[in-house]
Amino acid sequence: MRILAIGECMAEMAPTDAPSTYQMGFAGDTFNTAWYLAQLTPETPLSYFTAVGDDAISSRMLDAMRESGVNTQQVRIVPNRSVGLYLITLNNGERSFTYWRGQSAARLLAQDKQALARAMTQSDLIYFSGITLAILNPDGRAALLDVAQSARRAGKRIAFDPNLRPHLWDSPSEMTENIMQAAAVSDIALPSFEDEARWFSDKDPAATLQRYARAGAETIVVKNGAETVLYRTGGAEGSVHVPPLASVVDTTAAGDSFNAGILAGLATDTPLPDSIALACKLAGHVVQGKGALVPINQSLLDSCL
Ligand code: ADP
Repeated sequence: MRILAIGECMAEMAPTDAPSTYQMGFAGDTFNTAWYLAQLTPETPLSYFTAVGDDAISSRMLDAMRESGVNTQQVRIVPNRSVGLYLITLNNGERSFTYWRGQSAARLLAQDKQALARAMTQSDLIYFSGITLAILNPDGRAALLDVAQSARRAGKRIAFDPNLRPHLWDSPSEMTENIMQAAAVSDIALPSFEDEARWFSDKDPAATLQRYARAGAETIVVKNGAETVLYRTGGAEGSVHVPPLASVVDTTAAGDSFNAGILAGLATDTPLPDSIALACKLAGHVVQGKGALVPINQSLLDSCL
């Protein structure tokens, strides 16, 4: 199975222990998922679709993607643009994020609809998120969903994490309408209950599950922080207990790494409850480390697979 992740990767400036000194890295929700996935199933062909600029930082980002095992051949290069950037500020241990991404090349990733269609044709499982949609203009969103729908009709599987980020949308209703349009072209929905409850008024995780099932997703996994994960697949429903953790350091990329566990399971034909258990183990490791991309050691990898 060939996997394609679509979205925006940004340059990250993270504070180090030395005052006024930052370490540069690269991260972004769908890329984080690809980064974990490349380690979970290195034998699975994995590509990232985005747009970057033609400057030095853009080529460093592409190098970093390739070094992490992600194929970048489909990435669009947009002259005179660059990649988005975010800076992390620590205040009494709390991380806050400042973004410069309004003009990023990734906002134009759906401009070349044929390139997008070609990338999907060369894949079997396609993954994108509500953030992927949010950064596009209305034409770009329509192009992405149209191409995804055609890919689905051609037998590809579409996986979608709503990843609700109201500040990236003009209004909450624009966000919720677009999210449900994306859900309607998806086979696999990976929502997080806390966000869904807030923006869709779901009274419990079962309501989130039912809403995505009604939208047409065949497989749904509802994440809920430290609480039980609910799922539905092929008409069967169930739940998976989340192993409790002694401490949580930083929940950045909890959902992204969790999704990598689910996609890895799909790529290896693992039964969904087992993939969810794997996803919980990986996400549990990630929330006990700092930052989006927490190194995974071999013993964790061995225990995941
Ligand atoms: P998101 O990052 O999308 O909001 P969640 O917060 O629901 O996603 O977390 C995703 C997964 O990360 C959970 O299903 C769980 O496996 C793991 N996780 C997150 N927070 C905790 C926690 N406090 N204790 C144990 N596992 C956690």
